[in-house]
Amino acid sequence: MPYTDNIRKVTPYVPGEQPKVTGDLIKLNTNENPYPPSPKVKQAIEALPVETMRLYPDVTAAPLAKALAAYHGLKEEQVFVGVGSDDVLATCFLTFFAGKKPVLFPDITYSFYDVWAELYRIPYETLPLTEDFRIRADDYKRENGGIVIANPNAPTSIAQPLPFIEEILTENHDSIVIVDEAYVDFGGETALPLLKKYKNLVITRTFSKSRSFAGMRIGYAMADETLIEALNNVKFSINSYTMNCTAIAYGVASVDDEPYFKKTIAKIVATREKTAEALRELGFTCLPSSANFLFASHKNVPAEEIFTYLKSRNIYVRFFKKPRIDNYLRITIGTDAQMERLIAELRGFLETK
Ligand SMILES: *Cc1c(COP(=O)(O)O)cnc(C)c1O
Repeated sequence: MPYTDNIRKVTPYVPGEQPKVTGDLIKLNTNENPYPPSPKVKQAIEALPVETMRLYPDVTAAPLAKALAAYHGLKEEQVFVGVGSDDVLATCFLTFFAGKKPVLFPDITYSFYDVWAELYRIPYETLPLTEDFRIRADDYKRENGGIVIANPNAPTSIAQPLPFIEEILTENHDSIVIVDEAYVDFGGETALPLLKKYKNLVITRTFSKSRSFAGMRIGYAMADETLIEALNNVKFSINSYTMNCTAIAYGVASVDDEPYFKKTIAKIVATREKTAEALRELGFTCLPSSANFLFASHKNVPAEEIFTYLKSRNIYVRFFKKPRIDNYLRITIGTDAQMERLIAELRGFLETK
């Protein structure tokens, strides 16, 4: 048997392009925040003694877990911190989906879920969203080995109300239900109030979008203590020290600046609404967004053509060449000025059609 037979074969997740941001390039393709992190983070960077780096960091990122627990009104033992929510979600898949029944998630959702399922050899089934891209609660009332729902969903931007999440939970006492709240700060309804009642609920969050920390890599999960303990056991079986000391300190500083956080989000939401309106005037349909991006389709011009044109004009948006969504563009909300340039470019291009 050739040694190559022993190599694990995986089809990796493909993230959005990361072009060098130079000159007039506008990057609206990976849902990053256009504003810098809180000024308190800058102070924390200046205050952190380099001596700190000599020692291993706290294994549970305790200062950050504590800050997040206090922020959300939970116990420290109910918070698990990881290197971005991708790390947290991957650990959740490995920890919570060790059964034989298929894990369920929508056909159109964060495209990392099936990659982790394949990597860890977890059986899974994807359930189609409705024609108007909604998740049907009834689809999740069948035997399963776990459920994953992104709420708001990506890349559709659509949020489901809290009773929808509760309906899924009441029907699935025997499965772990993960709610990926990567975008919840931009207008979704959090499942946090359900944590007390449902011991099988896991909520994941990220600092990458609403806290302008994509490059810092911080994500976390909130759940019952027994589930957090299970996550830590798996993590400690791979790599105890995932969170570096700088990320822990800067994360605490970010959580410490609620007014800045609120202000930044309000700006993005206002820009989102303005942009959606301008896109509609140009003949686009935008799904109702509760996120920091719009999912838009033009009535005459194919999405791929617009995508290619925008790229030639140094504006990067995301296009998924996938069934059902290959006539949509996912457009991250940038600053007002960036969105004005996007609209101007689109207007110019569509006038030639
Ligand atoms: C961005 C994103 C994540 C991962 O974010 P990290 O940068 O790894 O924290 C997870 N889920 C969804 C739905 C996302 O859009």
